[in-house]
Amino acid sequence: IQRTFSIVKPDAVRKNLIGAIYSRIEACGLSVVGAKMLHLTREQAEGFYAEHEGKVFFEPLMEFMTSGPIMVQVLEGENAITFYRELMGTTNPENAAAGTLRCDYAESMRFNAVHGSDSEESAAREIAYFFTENEVC
Ligand code: ATP
Ligand code: MG
Repeated sequence: IQRTFSIVKPDAVRKNLIGAIYSRIEACGLSVVGAKMLHLTREQAEGFYAEHEGKVFFEPLMEFMTSGPIMVQVLEGENAITFYRELMGTTNPENAAAGTLRCDYAESMRFNAVHGSDSEESAAREIAYFFTENEVC
């Protein structure tokens, strides 16, 4: 059993897709074991995406991720990290496989609806970035 970290990004929250995305997560066997809504500050967004600092898309990414509320959640299940990355689909929705969250809900590479940790190390870092131990059940 593994845990991963996930975000419903501002575009998806604006489009009232929280419930739809949670349904898809739960339908494929992942469990939500921690969740909250928050509106990222610039500092929180920079810290979260520190690995992308300096890249051409960094500024627009900061603007987007601070543009409205997000849902952050911890997901638990067998191979949760890889499994949830597969459920999300590719970063660019044009290449996302049918049935993936980004195929169905993302507008573009920038406004791509969801985030999921890409490794055990990032999952541990990202969960700790947003949740204290007693906020995850
Ligand atoms: P995330 O980390 O959000 O789950 P990802 O792991 O699929 O997405 P990353 O390479 O980590 O993709 O990029 C982080 C985010 O930065 C992407 O989800 C997207 O919103 C944005 N991004 C990445 N590359 C581009 C790009 N070329 N143009 C616009 N936005 C981009
Ligand atoms: Mg990433």
